[in-house]
Amino acid sequence: MPKAQETVLEIDLNALKHNFTHLKSKLKNHTKVLAVVKAFAYGNDAREIAKYLETLNVDYFAVAYANEGVALREAGVTKSILVLHPIAVNFKTLIAYCLEPNLYSKKILETFIKVASEENQTNYPVHIKFNTGLNRLGFDESNIDFIANTLDKTNVVKVKSLFSHLAASEDLNEREFTLNQINKFKKYSEKLIDLIGYAPIRHMCNTSGILNYPEAHFDMVRTGIGLYGFGNSVKESKNLKPIATLKTIISQIHTIEKGESVGYNRAFKSELLLMTATLPIGHADGINRIYGNGKGFVTINGKKAPIVGNVCMDMIMVNITNIDCQEGDEVIVFGPEYTSAETLAESASTISYELITSISQRVKRVLLK
Ligand SMILES: *Cc1c(COP(=O)(O)O)cnc(C)c1O
Repeated sequence: MPKAQETVLEIDLNALKHNFTHLKSKLKNHTKVLAVVKAFAYGNDAREIAKYLETLNVDYFAVAYANEGVALREAGVTKSILVLHPIAVNFKTLIAYCLEPNLYSKKILETFIKVASEENQTNYPVHIKFNTGLNRLGFDESNIDFIANTLDKTNVVKVKSLFSHLAASEDLNEREFTLNQINKFKKYSEKLIDLIGYAPIRHMCNTSGILNYPEAHFDMVRTGIGLYGFGNSVKESKNLKPIATLKTIISQIHTIEKGESVGYNRAFKSELLLMTATLPIGHADGINRIYGNGKGFVTINGKKAPIVGNVCMDMIMVNITNIDCQEGDEVIVFGPEYTSAETLAESASTISYELITSISQRVKRVLLK
């Protein structure tokens, strides 16, 4: 691997392949895989990742919003793309780019049928989402007759899949709640299938659902975080490889005398002589202020260097008093070799999802093939 000369997010497609293969090994042969590539593929690079996953024969993609799907189509992605949270104002765009909406409420179902009808569509592929306990998006049991009646009156749309989302698939203390969600999904989906007279694809599991609830794999699973190398537990993460390494360099080294302060608002005041390194990465790059003042740390020449004082917009200062290093040296913020994003996130009481999706578009992405 080349040494970094500026702040970069290195993305290892071989690790992505490893994770995809590992997750597939947990499935029955016929179970389809939907890759969740929302939020720039969790901060990585949605276009490159989706194009690579197409070569691995992934079955489906999902994004959160229509514009994310448009970007994939413009990059040449041809597989089906489910839009998990479509907004009515974007329905025409969604149709123009052959993106498939999640229809999760009466209003969204009726509005989509109206727009698709004006656009002269027939059998337009749509997905119906049930709320089984997350209470975020989705139809309740009481809506099933309404859905069936609405679909019966039109040939503008055709249901490609029925799905639901687990609220606590990574938390084994919530097993009873999760099993109840799975049972509700079975019940609701069977009832709707009975009424519409055909059987769309059914799916419910995210990454932790794949790993913890094999009985809920149905026809397809949806994986996001697992593809990017995290399993939401020490045990599961061992079998996966983080695909991204966030690197930067040392811009300048300072000697801080006893009594001097470092950074904005003088948040750090030194009680002894120490050395700091200033790095070209800050909260505008996704290292949020919560990591400041000793919580977060980076790795320099194999050693941990904690963040000193407040995180600035474009820079952080780290303590290198006991580290042999020079201006220009490479710095690892997170990556599989030293501190994983999961571990760094924990230092600030957050989760890998938040840290990796925060890495801003200012940071250059470099693909390792
Ligand atoms: C984001 C998302 C996923 C992916 O979850 P992971 O835990 O990253 O695997 C799956 N389904 C829905 C509905 C989502 O919003």
